[in-house]
Amino acid sequence: MGESFWPARNVAEYIYCPRLFYYMQVEGIQLPSQDTEKGLAVHRRVDQPSTGPAAGAAEEEDPGRPAVLRSLVLSSRHLQLTATLDLTEIDGKYAVPIEYRKGRPKRFFAKPPQTEEEEDDFNRAAQAPQPWPIDRVQVGLQALLLEEAGYTVVKAVLYYSSEKLKLTIPVDDALKAEALEALQQAKDCAAGERPLPLVNDPRCPRCSLQPLCLPDEINYQRTPKPGDELTPRKIWPPRDDGIHVVAQQEGVKIGIRGMELRVTDRTGAVVRTIPLANIESLSLLGPVQLTTQALHALANMNIPIAYLSAAGRLLAIIDPLDSVSAAIRRAQVRQFDCAEKCLELTRALITAKIANQRTLLLRNHKGLPENVADELAKEAKSAAAAASIESIRGHEGQAAALYFKHFSGMFKGKVAEEFDNNGRQRRPPPDPINACLSFAYTMLTHECTAALRTARLEPAIGGFHVSKPGRPAFALDLMEPFRPLIADSIAVTCFNKGELTEGHFMRTVSGCAFTDAGRRSFFNALGRRMDTEITHPLFEYRLSYRRMIILHARMIAAWLAEEIPSLAFLTTR
Ligand code: SF4
Repeated sequence: MGESFWPARNVAEYIYCPRLFYYMQVEGIQLPSQDTEKGLAVHRRVDQPSTGPAAGAAEEEDPGRPAVLRSLVLSSRHLQLTATLDLTEIDGKYAVPIEYRKGRPKRFFAKPPQTEEEEDDFNRAAQAPQPWPIDRVQVGLQALLLEEAGYTVVKAVLYYSSEKLKLTIPVDDALKAEALEALQQAKDCAAGERPLPLVNDPRCPRCSLQPLCLPDEINYQRTPKPGDELTPRKIWPPRDDGIHVVAQQEGVKIGIRGMELRVTDRTGAVVRTIPLANIESLSLLGPVQLTTQALHALANMNIPIAYLSAAGRLLAIIDPLDSVSAAIRRAQVRQFDCAEKCLELTRALITAKIANQRTLLLRNHKGLPENVADELAKEAKSAAAAASIESIRGHEGQAAALYFKHFSGMFKGKVAEEFDNNGRQRRPPPDPINACLSFAYTMLTHECTAALRTARLEPAIGGFHVSKPGRPAFALDLMEPFRPLIADSIAVTCFNKGELTEGHFMRTVSGCAFTDAGRRSFFNALGRRMDTEITHPLFEYRLSYRRMIILHARMIAAWLAEEIPSLAFLTTR
């Protein structure tokens, strides 16, 4: 940690959960939860720093009363420790740290009662409140800092706001030793690898980092016999609560007013306002203006912004600094330098992709020749057992040729004939289906890039796709199994339901492309598809496709950090 100081609050988190401490202290990750928001509300009043006159004023009123300081900041170079004390009562050379807690104190439950009399005793005993170990450590560290500042500390106070209960605990050698031991353990922990998650622990469902930590999912895959001992709890919200805003109309300008984004047209008229709190991401297509003030507000709220060309090519992503973790990036670079690890990733990706292509054909092609599904299954099996990435590329190519040969059989009408004549062509796309697929793959790349960033991974360093300047190789890796499930499926649905027609495309010398109306229809369909919930084949809970992509990115991060032994990607039946 060099010369940096350890916040006492973070050290105390080590007692709660070493992995939580590691995320916060070493990886700098904080996600707000209901609990942390309540905790902040409780601290809001006491966190207003005291000013000299206020403390003095108290003394003027009653010179005999101890002075009370709010948000006193203390540091110790010797301990490399710092703390902001909620309240500190100073009475001459004596000091009392007072810490506010939003919850309830710990209660000790003895042997369950057998008789009515025992039940009375039990209830009385059960009422005896105690401080939680995490709270003891925090006030213990504060007492050490106050002592180093020259005060005598004989007691500390913990105030549990849910019960309006004040607990006074003695500051003795035992408490100080407990606090110092926690500090040392935390320092040792930070110098090593990220600790594994707690197993089946009641703390996890309330933990703000649970969606990132994935304790049950990781433990499930680490268990020798999956399913026997642990079933992942459905504790992650299946869908985003927020919206993914896409601005594509030429000439519109996005600014900020208070806590809302304001979209104005060329004339300056407000066409839409969106509360910042509702936004998950913002994508700007073509010549759409975003003010610096709005950009700062979005960055403060950790909302990523993607800049895309009018044709949908991803040009740049602005994502908040919060999404960088040196530890996981180091693991990514280290692992992708290993050929065996890249091969393992590629096998899992391509096997799942071919399986999903096969499923899509089986579901939507009315006259699929019998051998096609078998051939695709054979290619998937061969890819799963292949000894080199080149060999997997071969199986992937064979499968793609077969898949796109029969692709048009999933569509109705003239668009199908045109695609049949052209086959899959990318640059430039010559017909509406090819144009839709190219645009859908680009948008999917953007979704996968955002998911990798969320998982603190570097999108440019891939294990299967070769890294090149400007190429999000890892995002291309991650999207392989999702291509048929999301992009191809959107094309099939939109053309067959008439949401996309010939009129939604324009033909130019540089190929076939969406009109504005066509792009709007596409984005509506993309939004619906990303919100569609599906069941995870291993964990058996339902998540939207968008959440599913993020879950896979996080499971890859866990695999790169060697927290889980193997990888499996989503396949549907
Ligand atoms: S989810 Fe559980 S294991 Fe993970 S950081 Fe939180 S408390 Fe620790």
